[in-house]
Parts: sequence; structure tokens; C-alpha cells
Amino acid sequence: MKRIISLGLGLQSTGMYFMSCKGLLPKADFAIFSDTGMEAEASYKYLQWLLNWQRDNCGIPIIVCRDKNLFEDLLHSSPDVHNVSIPAFTANEDGSIGMLRRQCTHKYKIQVINDYIRDHIYGLSKGARRPPTAIWLGISTDEIERMAYPQQSWCINTYPYLGYYTTHKGECNHIDWARPMNSQDIVRWLVLQGLPIPTKSACVFCPYKSDAAWAAQKEFAPQDFASAIRIDEAIRNSTPKGVNSPVYLHRSCTPLATVDFDPEQKQNWGECSGTCHI
Ligand code: SF4
Repeated sequence: MKRIISLGLGLQSTGMYFMSCKGLLPKADFAIFSDTGMEAEASYKYLQWLLNWQRDNCGIPIIVCRDKNLFEDLLHSSPDVHNVSIPAFTANEDGSIGMLRRQCTHKYKIQVINDYIRDHIYGLSKGARRPPTAIWLGISTDEIERMAYPQQSWCINTYPYLGYYTTHKGECNHIDWARPMNSQDIVRWLVLQGLPIPTKSACVFCPYKSDAAWAAQKEFAPQDFASAIRIDEAIRNSTPKGVNSPVYLHRSCTPLATVDFDPEQKQNWGECSGTCHI
């Protein structure tokens, strides 16, 4: 059975990639990264470094999919086209703050990787059945609640840090080659190997960010922040079906460019689950 690392460029999946390359975990066949179009500059730098490392060390092949571009699609959002929704904020009629349904993870991450596996790894036509395939997901023991059953019958969700695999039928079985680790264990292992720690990866415009994360982006990555402002302005009146109020990237429902961020507010408003940016 093919083993494919879902590479999100975050700490866990990157650590898993190196552990598999270096023999601490069984050898995977490929690692696939789906680029949604506007990751942080630091993540693209890390990706380039990783691709060079892979080439120089004959590492597991890394595939970068750029078939869909969420940044461009959002930039050209309009009420006339079917827009995909990111978890942006909008005011409800009663004055409370609501969050749009997240469709981006599935469409721009999971589906892109699944299509690549069908089209290029197996060379199958649309609608053809894929053989059972182990998709390795970097969920560490401190975030075990993110473990899930796969939605596709061919997909075996495999969790090397947790020691389980799950199937579409609702099975959850033990794997005997697992390396139980939390995120600190992974950091420690990377440091001991002399490997650089990746920065937290996410779309620069992801609305899940805390105020502290927005403030840090504004101060230390002004180009990323400028890109987020472009998206914030572009989506304002894109109003997906059923949403009548303007939408915003920031929970205050005010334009991102004008928000006075509270650096003490460290709560994220959600998480990309499963394969998104881990
Ligand atoms: S990081 Fe945020 S905006 Fe980007 S795909 Fe994940 S949930 Fe969507």
C-alpha cells in the first residue's frame, strides 16, 4: 500500500517527513504539499530550503500542488460567482458575530491532494476507484482531538505520532511502529538533528488568527499583512449565498487595516482540522 505524507509545512508534518527520511518511521513514498497561494513568506523560504534538502539528501520526493489558488480566487470574489468561503466574520441580524462555514480546507487542501493521488500517483481517470492508500497525518499527542475518520473509502488516515489508523468504516486500529510524540518532543528531535524548526504555517489571511498573531504579522511580516488587507477588502461584499452583511477577516467586523490589535488576546478562533497546515 502506498504511504503518502500530507505535508502542511507546519511543525508536525515536517517533523514526520524528516523522521521518515531518516528511518525513525517507515519510509513513505511521497510527501504532498498543496499551496493555497499565499502562505507566509517564512513558510515559502522554508519550503525552498526543504526542497533543496530533499535534493541534496535523496529525501522522499516532495510534490508541490499549485492547481488551485485560494488567494487569487478570493481576490476576485464577487456575488455573481460561486465563492468558496473561508471562516470569515459577519454580523448577524441580532448584532451577534457569526463565522462563515469553512470550505477552503476541503477544496484547496484535501481535494487537491486527493485529485493528485488519483491523476498522477495512480494515473486513474475521474471517478475511478483508488486503491487503499495510507495518508499520513501529523497530529501530535497534544492535539489528539484532531484525529478523524476519512471521508473516502480508499483513504486510510494514519497517525504516526498517535499510533492509530482510522478507516472510512469507522475502524480505529493500533499501529505498532508509531512514535508517540507531542509537539515539544518533535521540536526537541528536530533540534537534536540540527534541522530548522518551521514557523507556524497558514494562509496569511486566515481569519482564525488571534489578535496577538495579527499584531505579530503586522509588525514582523508587513508584506504578509498587506496581502491579508487585500483579501479583507476583496471579500467585503462578496456575501456568499444566504449572507447579507459584509464579511471581514477580523472578529471585530471592522476593516483589518484599521484594527487596533490587542497583543494580549492570544485565543485563536478555530483550527484548520485534519490536513490543513499541520
Ligand atoms: S489556513 Fe485558514 S484560510 Fe487557509 S485553508 Fe486553512 S482555514 Fe482556510
